[in-house]
Amino acid sequence: MTAMPQMVSFFNGMGGACAALISVIEYRHLMHNAPGGIAELLANGAETGNLTRLAIMYAGLIIGSISFSGSIIAYGKLEGKISDKVLPGQQFLNIGLFLGIVLLAVLSVMGVLESDNLLYAVGALALAYGVLFVMPIGGADMPVVISLLNSFTGVAAAFGGFLYDNKVMLIGGILVGSAGTLLTIVMCKAMNRSLLNVLIGNFGGGASGAASAASPQGSVKSVNASDAAILMKYAKKVIIVPGYGLAVAQAQHVVHELEGILENEGVEVKYAIHPVAGRMPGHMNVLLAESNVDYDKLVEMEDINPEFNTTDVVLVIGANDVVNPAAKTDPASPIYGMPILEVEYARQCIVMKRSMSAGYAGIDNELFYRDKTSMLFGDAKKMLTELVSELKAMQ
Ligand code: NDP
Repeated sequence: MTAMPQMVSFFNGMGGACAALISVIEYRHLMHNAPGGIAELLANGAETGNLTRLAIMYAGLIIGSISFSGSIIAYGKLEGKISDKVLPGQQFLNIGLFLGIVLLAVLSVMGVLESDNLLYAVGALALAYGVLFVMPIGGADMPVVISLLNSFTGVAAAFGGFLYDNKVMLIGGILVGSAGTLLTIVMCKAMNRSLLNVLIGNFGGGASGAASAASPQGSVKSVNASDAAILMKYAKKVIIVPGYGLAVAQAQHVVHELEGILENEGVEVKYAIHPVAGRMPGHMNVLLAESNVDYDKLVEMEDINPEFNTTDVVLVIGANDVVNPAAKTDPASPIYGMPILEVEYARQCIVMKRSMSAGYAGIDNELFYRDKTSMLFGDAKKMLTELVSELKAMQ
């Protein structure tokens, strides 16, 4: 489950590559039947349909190539093999390159530039654009770019459907493209980014922000499972905040068991679901559904945030970025502007994780140093199992 996003990115990249290769192969096919080259191809191009075909080929090639190289970079980032890199003036370079690619394609279709190899050059530039487009994206913004690339692949495949007059391919591509676009819009909203920012590659603070973000000062308070169990047993209301670490530890079943024990003790239990918790959209919903957690107990961020100040204990399990107050307070932080779960307003906050290591965005978390926060160090599955046995022993 935790490696799924990488696999989704990789498969998405392969879809983009297929769509781009269809354009290349069909172009070669057209050129084969036109010994006079592109000039012959476009002479009477409107009547023969070659003009439309060439335009579709360019569109499929450009979008498919961007999707391929962008998805492979996204795959490398999710796998931890590639780090964020921002070149000086990257934003302008990206816009310039993109406009250049579109201009070359338009001039070629209009017959102004008559090079037989121009299509290949445009494909190569689109591949480079895909790399430059995704490379600077860091912090907590990857979910947006992944769904955007997904919609690109759908649109590129739909162009393939036009080319072959294949309705199944066309409908499939349109479905993927529109679903991906809708998801992108929803993710943008959740991440507090505008779609325009996404399209020109101007994401949040990017990698440079991480370097200048302030590091929290102070000491952390650590508790053991027994102390945490007592706190929860005597609470009226407990909110569980699941994150990536819960998925890594595969602790979804034992957390459901904990929820049952607490409810038997008369404690009200809810789960706070952040839209980008984990490593893929809906990750926490899927994970908790697997262990039959009642769907009504999963509460979306906007609905649960006003409830934290009336909550006795928040149990954060393997979540980090989605509860980092720097998103609200530190403009230099790469996650600045991202809405978070406001767990700091609860009376007590217990954070379960193995160490003080950072989450996906690679930044320290001030929440861990707050007076009301206690750290319960250990693997989520192991610590939840300990919590469950402590609570059982107290019954
Ligand atoms: P984070 O990645 O911020 O933090 C996860 C934490 O889990 C780590 O700090 C780690 O700390 C802890 N952890 C890891 N393994 C275990 C374990 N076995 N037991 C207990 N704890 C463990 O996760 P969040 O869910 O808070 O945030 C998700 C991040 O991923 C966001 O930045 C989001 O933008 C990004 N992202 C989300 C995608 C999506 O679609 N949902 C896609 C791509 C990226 P330690 O090592 O100390 O245990």
